[in-house]
Amino acid sequence: MSENNMMEKLVSLCKRRGFIFPGSEIYGGLANSWDYGPLGVELKNNIKKLWWKKFVQQRDDMVGIDAALMMNPKVWQASGHISNFSDPLIECKKCHTRFRADTFDQEKCPNCKGTEFTAAKEFNLMFKTFMGPAEEEANIVYFRPETAQAMFVDFPQVVETSRQRIPFGIAQTGKAFRNEITPGNFIFRTREFEQMEIEYFVHEKDWEKYFEYWLEQMKSWLSDIGVDSSKLHYVDIGDGDRAHYSKRTVDIEFDYPFGQKELYGIAYRSNHDLTQHQNVSKQDLEYRDPETGEKFLPHVVEPTFGVDRTVLAVLLSAYTEIEGGRSTTTEAIKESEVVLKIDKKIAPVKVAVLPLSKKDEVSIPAKDLANKLRKYWYVQYDETGSIGKRYRRQDEIGTPYCVTYDFDSLEDKKVTVRDRDTMTQERVSIDDLEKYFKERFED
Ligand code: ATP
Repeated sequence: MSENNMMEKLVSLCKRRGFIFPGSEIYGGLANSWDYGPLGVELKNNIKKLWWKKFVQQRDDMVGIDAALMMNPKVWQASGHISNFSDPLIECKKCHTRFRADTFDQEKCPNCKGTEFTAAKEFNLMFKTFMGPAEEEANIVYFRPETAQAMFVDFPQVVETSRQRIPFGIAQTGKAFRNEITPGNFIFRTREFEQMEIEYFVHEKDWEKYFEYWLEQMKSWLSDIGVDSSKLHYVDIGDGDRAHYSKRTVDIEFDYPFGQKELYGIAYRSNHDLTQHQNVSKQDLEYRDPETGEKFLPHVVEPTFGVDRTVLAVLLSAYTEIEGGRSTTTEAIKESEVVLKIDKKIAPVKVAVLPLSKKDEVSIPAKDLANKLRKYWYVQYDETGSIGKRYRRQDEIGTPYCVTYDFDSLEDKKVTVRDRDTMTQERVSIDDLEKYFKERFED
């Protein structure tokens, strides 16, 4: 399968099965905006929930916040986003299509084959709007281009209310907005996306130790969610390409079908952000060590995770095409079959209940069973089509387990549980089913 073909197949599967749709489609869409459908929202929420559990709830050195999307514009002045958060832009003189000058390496415009371009000019990527009824300069606010800054701005309040001691971290997940010049490649680069970020506050002398530690944590997370490790690259960013205040940045890149590109990043940000906010706000943001009495602005290690790129890397890692199909049933399956081998912990539908007959005597108890399991997991009930077709439907959306309820179930009070990856089938007593799945879904 060619790599381009792979992207086309994935985008089409996502649309057809309700993972991700083009946004505003009935109005002809809105360039590069995507909506997560019924299965996509489950997958994305499962990823965010697992991340929060691993990095916030299961640790005593982490706390979360959920800040406002629009912040005082001085935040972006202090962080440097108003003056520096820009990409160089060139424009084709013939058709006026715009390109990012730093990544554009062609002689001719890909749109109209024109050969003349304007000189590069800096284009600020922040979205602006007005707060309140008057559209005046004084009322301009920006949609946050990253979630990170709120963790710095709220730092003193978190220290005061949470009684955390350094080293500790603040985490946040949420939307960020960037007016990207060249969005594209499905959900890889969009103008509205989600991030999961951590600012981990340390004493300067410890930054290297915690940088290594968090890099390992990021690797462990990628393994938890089943991202293909053979497609991951850890790229140390060279001196000239890092921000001046950072002594180390590592980009975690993934082999997407359209090339090796950034998935996540981790940066040592020194105490640059707190220093900037202290200077601009004129507030004391220093941390006071309760034991030594030392006062200082903590240094920061920042692991950052894009949610949408996580979804994409998970789907690309999970997508498995089996030519000629898997002989799950006696039916001859000629065309290829798709199995999404999404990790059980984040699969959108956890269990499908499939009665072997539509007759009430089987379908009613099967529905009851589905309702019982729904208390704990997202369950689908499906009684239409042959059992082979129903298995394939579930394989294609990555459902880890299918439960078939048959006439024997009425007698022996057992059901057949089929495993998506091994296709093994096992008879399990209905009374033991909750326990059976709990053992398999909970870590
Ligand atoms: P890129 O170089 O690809 O533009 P970046 O280095 O600007 O990314 P960061 O500012 O480090 O990205 O943002 C943190 C994370 O947010 C990225 O690692 C990525 O996962 C995600 N991200 C950034 N920009 C976008 C976007 N336009 N669409 C989707 N996800 C994004």
